Amino acid sequence: MTLRDALLDAWALLSPVECAGCAAADRSLCAECSGALVPDVATVSAVGGLGVASALRYELRVRRVILAFKEHDRTDVARALAVPLAHAVRAAIAASPCDGGIELALVPTSRAAYRRRGYDPVRLLVRGAGGRPARVLLAARAKGTQKALGLEQRHENLRGAFVAARRLDGRRFVIVDDILTSGATISEAARAIRTAGGEVVGAATMAFTPRLFPFRDIASSEDYRGAKGAQ
Ligand SMILES: [Zn+2]
Repeated sequence: MTLRDALLDAWALLSPVECAGCAAADRSLCAECSGALVPDVATVSAVGGLGVASALRYELRVRRVILAFKEHDRTDVARALAVPLAHAVRAAIAASPCDGGIELALVPTSRAAYRRRGYDPVRLLVRGAGGRPARVLLAARAKGTQKALGLEQRHENLRGAFVAARRLDGRRFVIVDDILTSGATISEAARAIRTAGGEVVGAATMAFTPRLFPFRDIASSEDYRGAKGAQ
């Protein structure tokens, strides 16, 4: 047994936990679920020609860990999830045509979701990665749930959902969100930034839904590195 394991066991006695991905005892994340969170950044050209860099496939263990984090108060896994998001953000910045001066625009959580959870998942992840992003976008109005809607309806449902906190002239942004599903959320965030005079150079999410963005639409991270040079 390594010292690290011994310390984890001691910690488990003081504070019983189970794995956020599979409910295995005594670990916040077991080895298998930690392994599932190793980032493999792919770029999805999904949203009005905007490239979205995404680090994980939203399925199986990854999906369960993210759901535990977002819906079941498992903020103890925020640091582990911050790593793939940070990789996606770096890839989105590296893929943009500009050199430097890029800011992060976090997709805002709705007031209702904030009240329900008591935290803003995306902001928590960016902070977990050491970021201190300014508030660029605000939730302008309550949006209905997206779950039962088709792609067109999702875009329509979200129109006007976000507004920039101030004028953004001359500023360049990478939009940051947790999960890429239909692209409607990122599309609406981009609209809000451009309406305020800002420029959107890319987007990054921790994970993407493979059902909506199957492999054939994705440039693998190998292609990506080949195109951009070693990182
Ligand atoms: Zn597990």
